[in-house]
Order: sequence, then C-alpha cells, then structure tokens
Amino acid sequence: MLHHKNVVITGGSSGIGKAMAILFAAHGANIMILGTSEEKGKNAVEAIKQAAMSPKQCIEYRVCDVSNFISVENLFLQDIVKQFPIIDVLVNNAGITRDGFLIKMKEQDWDDVIAVNLKSIFNTTRVVVRAMMREKKGKIINISSIVGLVGNAGQTNYAAAKSGMIGFSKALAQEVARKNICVNCIAPGYIETAMTEVLSEDVQSALLQKIPMQRMGIPLDVAKVALFLASDLSDYVTGQVITVDGGMVL
Ligand code: NAD
Repeated sequence: MLHHKNVVITGGSSGIGKAMAILFAAHGANIMILGTSEEKGKNAVEAIKQAAMSPKQCIEYRVCDVSNFISVENLFLQDIVKQFPIIDVLVNNAGITRDGFLIKMKEQDWDDVIAVNLKSIFNTTRVVVRAMMREKKGKIINISSIVGLVGNAGQTNYAAAKSGMIGFSKALAQEVARKNICVNCIAPGYIETAMTEVLSEDVQSALLQKIPMQRMGIPLDVAKVALFLASDLSDYVTGQVITVDGGMVL
C-alpha cells in the first residue's frame, strides 16, 4: 500500500510511532524516524528493517528535538532532503504528558507540553509542506487524542495542545486541499504504551469501565488507521479527526 513512499514519523522509536513505522515498512515504505534517544532509535530501526518488504528500503533514524524550530529546519533542509528529496507522508506523532491540576501546574509543564505536542507540528509541517505543494501531493497525519475532543481533568496542558492540533489540521487542510494534500488527525483513546503504563491500576480499571469494547487499545490499532490515511485509499479524505478508542467517546 505504500510501495516506494517516503515517510517521516516523529517519535517513531516507541509506542504508536514505532508500530506505524513497522506496519508502513511492511507495506513497502521508506521510513525516517525522529526521536530523542540514539539507543532507542537504533533498536527501532532494527525492528523496522525486519518488518520491511525488501532490504532495499531506506530505514533510518535521526536524533531531533521536534519542539526546536531551528533544529527541525536544519535537519530537513540539510540532511533528510538528501535521503528523501520528496516526502510523501509526514506523521506528527511525538508527544509527552506532564499531568497535574491547573491550580498546581508549573509554567514549565505547560510550556513543555505545548512545545512538544503542538509547536512541533508547526516546525515539521512548515518545512515539509512547501515541497509537497510543489509535488502537488502529500499526506499529513497528526496524532491528537480523545483528550483534545472531550478534555480530561489534570490535563489542561495536554488537552489544549491536542485540541490545537485539530484546529491546526482543519485550517491547513483548507489551505492545501487545492494542491492535493490531505491533512487529517487521529484521536486515540487509551492505548497500551509507555505513556499509559505509568497510570495506576485503579485508574486503568476505571478507564476500562468507560470503554465499550472493554479493552485498552494497542499501538497496532492506531497504526492500521494511520496506514489508511497514509495510503491512496484516503485520497479524498481531508480535515478529519478519526477516533480510535474502542467506542469510548461516542
Ligand atoms: P510514547 O511515549 O511511546 O511515544 C512518544 C514518542 O515521542 C517517544 O518515542 C518519544 O521519544 C518522542 N518524543 C518525545 N519528546 C520528543 C521531542 N521533543 N522530539 C522528538 N521526539 C520526542 O507514547 P505513545 O503513546 O506511543 O505516544 C505517541 C503519540 O500518541 C503522542 O503524541 C501521544 O500524545 C499520542 N496519544 C497516545 C495515547 C495513549 O494512550 N498512549 C492516547 C492518545 C494520544
């Protein structure tokens, strides 16, 4: 489904991002993952290569703090462009949480969450979309959250960032639709990754009660929807938010 497509995935060395990278590689894509740890990146590249359709596929990793505009711009314009002169698919997946009630939230926790989840998508998309417009094709997939749709006590920073991603995506979808570029969001519910394993057993069982499908999601559940949005199957789909949450938000 993604034969010869060049795909960049931020935060692609763990969790949902890694699952997307593995599934996309199994469908023939060349993959560039961006993340913060060299070690995690190396391990992810090995796993992605094993899943790839052919050893000829380019599977690489770059260390990059996606919240830093200059680092992102330099990386894309001086390095990634040599491997991927055309980027067919950009997945903005990097994210962090710094939870706490607003009344006690530190300014740094607000700033970090907005920078990594929201400012990052400005940084990466701004540099990638120009070439996509020239090519008159492209897919941009932003990994938001159901928290961006319905909020969650203790996550004002994260909810603001994830809602912001949705607004960004709808506005950009309108700007670039005439250039044949699709911009969509996925809003996962509760997915088993490093981000959710820190939740206490009590919180996890309370969450399970709210999921009609009676299980937490796995990264592959999200990756499959991302594959649809990355592929030609979704060529007439733009500005949408697809929830992947076992029916939690209905
Ligand atoms: P995760 O912690 O495994 O993945 C997050 C990735 O982002 C990591 O690989 C991390 O290295 C990377 N990252 C963090 N800061 C970065 C930075 N400054 N620059 C580059 N990379 C950075 O957790 P996950 O659950 O796989 O999260 C992936 C995305 O899915 C996030 O955007 C998260 O908000 C979103 N999400 C997750 C869930 C869930 O239940 N797990 C639910 C809704 C949305």
